[in-house]
Amino acid sequence: MKTIGLLGGMSWESTVGYYRAINEGVKKSLGGLHSAEIILHSVDFDPVEKLLERGEWERIAEILAEAAHGIQEAGADFLLICTNTMHKVAPQIENSISIPLLHIADATAEILTEDNVGKTGLIGTSFTMEHDFYKGRLREKYGLDVLIPGARDRKTVHDVIFRELCMGHMKNSSRTEYIRIINELADMGAEAVILGCTEIGMLINQKDVSVKLYDTTAIHAEKAVEYAL
Ligand code: GLU
Repeated sequence: MKTIGLLGGMSWESTVGYYRAINEGVKKSLGGLHSAEIILHSVDFDPVEKLLERGEWERIAEILAEAAHGIQEAGADFLLICTNTMHKVAPQIENSISIPLLHIADATAEILTEDNVGKTGLIGTSFTMEHDFYKGRLREKYGLDVLIPGARDRKTVHDVIFRELCMGHMKNSSRTEYIRIINELADMGAEAVILGCTEIGMLINQKDVSVKLYDTTAIHAEKAVEYAL
């Protein structure tokens, strides 16, 4: 079994989900008392989030690249960055390590492609919905047509992530808003909706809506198990 490197803490609430899903996946495949070999570096999210607010991506890249390098030095065979947003600096992180990085957008797009989804909705932080590092990759590398909510709804989705989900608060009023936004993406023609933020699965699940959901935390964790075994 390969050793899985996790760069987490963004937020720790969703890194818990990775830890659980990866160990459950290994247990399911190998049985008995088997569990995953994991090296985790969980950052203090508060200063990183402040840099995010100020758009200081180069500083974020330096911090995360250093952490990734440490994970490699500690013996990880490959790396996962446990957040969609921070994949904006995935190229700088990849440059600082020689082990493979399992990119969250690739893991997700591969499953959408296998399921023959052509047009997908995407919700996540404003960076993930608006910048090109994520949507562009889905479009250019996989030919996916990506729909995002309108400006007001993007703000709602983003604010709920940072003010509630990253702090472990799941509110019914926010769930109702998310369900409306997801249903509107389906009405616009999305055949599926990507939960493109690792905390959204804490608030919304498949039972809440009829359009097919792709939870990036679950998909990314499953990919890690597959790769490790
Ligand atoms: N975990 C979130 C994501 O998947 C957002 C927090 C962050 O890393 O900025 O994008």
